[in-house]
Amino acid sequence: MIFLDNASTTKIFDSANKQLAQINAEFYFNPSALYRPATEVAQMLNDAKQTIAQNLGTTAEHIVFTSGATEGNNMAVNGFLTGKKNAEYVFSAGEHPSVFAVANGLKNTKTIKFVKLKSDGCIDCDDLLLQLTPNTHFVSVIHVSNETGAINDIKKIVKLVKAYNKNIIVHSDGTQAFGKINVNVEDLGVDCYTISAHKFHGPKGVGALYVKNPAKLKPFLLGGGQQNNLRSGTENVGGYVAMSVASQLATQNISNNFEVIKAMREYVKQEISAHCTDFCFNESQNNSPYILSVSFKGLRGEVLLHMLEDDGVLVSTGSACSSKKQSNRILEAMGLKKEYVLGSIRISFSSFNTPQEVKIAAQKIVGNYKKLKERIR
Ligand code: PMP
Repeated sequence: MIFLDNASTTKIFDSANKQLAQINAEFYFNPSALYRPATEVAQMLNDAKQTIAQNLGTTAEHIVFTSGATEGNNMAVNGFLTGKKNAEYVFSAGEHPSVFAVANGLKNTKTIKFVKLKSDGCIDCDDLLLQLTPNTHFVSVIHVSNETGAINDIKKIVKLVKAYNKNIIVHSDGTQAFGKINVNVEDLGVDCYTISAHKFHGPKGVGALYVKNPAKLKPFLLGGGQQNNLRSGTENVGGYVAMSVASQLATQNISNNFEVIKAMREYVKQEISAHCTDFCFNESQNNSPYILSVSFKGLRGEVLLHMLEDDGVLVSTGSACSSKKQSNRILEAMGLKKEYVLGSIRISFSSFNTPQEVKIAAQKIVGNYKKLKERIR
């Protein structure tokens, strides 16, 4: 089986998996308990937080452990809500459903605005500026699109927004960025930043939210006051330690992985370009090499996906969180015509893929494309 749906999740690193199992088997004590074995576990948790913070370019007091990016994104939007009348919330049209749905949920009580996407999948910064008003309270822009891999220039965006009004809170969803491109949250200048372990070969169900000013964050989960009252609930120690191991391995190898994966992506692009017609790549000039979104006019992405599955190649038609939806909100927001949108597949790579696998996958994509074209002739 050739797994090319790594934007949906990744295989856990062996060493992270071993840590997870060992902690669950041997160091299962509640980190809030007062006896020594528990305080040792609390220390492991603190060390994990420090490692993750360091790999994000910050320090441990700015990190809140979460159950993943869905929680992190919900926490970021809801945690900075203000009671101020007229406060406005601005979201990019390219946000993941875990931001988009929260934004839509606020519609009845708050003023919500969406910033246009350009045809390359990045946000339209001119439109962002047009959306800002003296009432703007919060802005959220995804760092790397989970649909196309378009990389938004978050540092530039933060500068633009803060130049307009330094009090506007800026959030970025870094789920498809961290561990794949260099991320330094303090350098980016964001107020909060979301990550999720299973996207960089850590376990599922664990993630983190960076918060520049934790005193301003309204806690999402209330209870025993864990994590400085910011997120109550007994911590998933094994998961967070495994996440820290994965964060270390992923960030250590960013440059090398980037080049290797870029070459694999290029190969698939070349093969498609050489053998297919009426298609487009949905990409930006500065795209993440980890994601390749391609749309074949007049074909059905879902049919191609299942033909590839029969050939042992797993891809997706888009984000797993939107896979039950009929269309693709992001590609539509980029202005892609419906006959292309419906024929889209997303091929997403990881450092576990090999050039040989990718060669076979490219052959299968082209072969099945030809079969489908024959059928509709
Ligand atoms: N944001 C982005 C950009 C994602 O790709 C995903 C995963 N599809 C999420 C948020 C949600 O992540 P999680 O599965 O950790 O809740």
